[in-house]
Amino acid sequence: MFIIDFDDTLFDTHALKGVLAKSSRDLIEAELSGLLFSDALSFLQYLKTVKQKLILLSFGELSFQSKKINATGIAKFFDEIIITPDGKELALEKILKQFVDEKDVWFINDKIEETKKILERFPKLKPVLKKSPQFAHEEYCSSKMPCFETLTQMQKYVEQQIK
Ligand SMILES: [Mg+2]
Repeated sequence: MFIIDFDDTLFDTHALKGVLAKSSRDLIEAELSGLLFSDALSFLQYLKTVKQKLILLSFGELSFQSKKINATGIAKFFDEIIITPDGKELALEKILKQFVDEKDVWFINDKIEETKKILERFPKLKPVLKKSPQFAHEEYCSSKMPCFETLTQMQKYVEQQIK
């Protein structure tokens, strides 16, 4: 099973913040869909071929997160989409209870500290980090978790691991 974050993992939220800082107008769908990382679709297509459950777990406010997710057209790849305004731990507890038989549970995220905390609580998870410009390269390196610049690189790592 793969549990995947949305903001700054599949979607360039960092760039969106720049756009929103410049104008307060409502963003149209085309603009939002253009912020999906260019290799996100091929990454998700690859994960589909692995035939494991895919869960999108996104922290934030329901209507804004839904708007972004719907604009990018990636909902169809996921078995479940969970948007939570309360942090991810409670949602993860439910997911892991629901899918208790899943042997390998991958957790794909961009935030280093959030992922560390989550791993302390759920040590069974296999973390993989997508590097976000929010954090220094060194912070990712010192986290000792596998981390990647692009989803294409991450895909190669996952391919090797699940062989
Ligand atoms: Mg994120």
